[in-house]
Amino acid sequence: TDFKSDKQPTWCPGCGDFGTMNGMMKALANTGNSPDDTFVVAGIGCSGKIGTYMRSYALHGVHGRALPVGTGVKLANPDLEVMVAGGDGDGYSIGVGHFIHAVRRNIDITYVVMDNRIYGLTKGQASPTSRSDFETATTPEGSKQPPVNPLALALSAGGSFIAQSFSSHAQRHTEIIEEAINHDGFSLVNTFSPCVTFNDVDTYDYFRDSLVDLGEEEDYDPSDREQAKDKILDSEKEYMGVLYQDDDAQSYEQAHGVEGNMADIDTDGAPDGAMDLVREFY
Ligand code: SF4
Repeated sequence: TDFKSDKQPTWCPGCGDFGTMNGMMKALANTGNSPDDTFVVAGIGCSGKIGTYMRSYALHGVHGRALPVGTGVKLANPDLEVMVAGGDGDGYSIGVGHFIHAVRRNIDITYVVMDNRIYGLTKGQASPTSRSDFETATTPEGSKQPPVNPLALALSAGGSFIAQSFSSHAQRHTEIIEEAINHDGFSLVNTFSPCVTFNDVDTYDYFRDSLVDLGEEEDYDPSDREQAKDKILDSEKEYMGVLYQDDDAQSYEQAHGVEGNMADIDTDGAPDGAMDLVREFY
């Protein structure tokens, strides 16, 4: 697609991040965006390299801090399509505080978490979404802690769009990201992206066999918060698709009248040189 840069990814062959990124690029193109109006912010981890592989504006940020940077980018120039990408370690461990507050602010950005339930870049330690009995380098007898449920965190923080996807279901994954982009407000797409090198439990086969697609359940209504809560807290099954969407929720920008490019604002009163710096960046 238009969004693919000429850099070859250094991800391990077969890594789920390939499929996740391809879906993001297709969804951006299908929703009428171009690399010139798109800004991708990434955290630290294998997924953090994504901005290098996409031909858009991009920033490879600090561990766990991609969301505040994405928030700043969106508020400085609301005309940009802002997508934030990261891993489960980046987003749900060191970044979990930012995650909760980004959800409740409901700024119109799309957050794609490449959830492989392991720290891949640092070679196989348990992450916040690892199963309690998953034996890793740092948890030889399992972590003995229940995994974080990111969808439940988002629902309890007032999330207006909560979805789950799978990197290997290319067409469905693209559709889910498109819906996230089209949503006015903060969109979470927790995307299972298997780590083929360090996680032999949460594999492609596991997700293919176990994921239930809510898009195929005719009586499922994502605007029904009670139904969403039941699915999100279901300990027997895992779901993909849009679990919850509140179309009536106002985005931060709508609620507070944020509009226009910061580079165009009246500079009277700004410290000398400050606005020149801002213009240089935006
Ligand atoms: Fe992907 Fe795992 Fe390799 Fe990282 S270590 S690139 S997550 S397969």
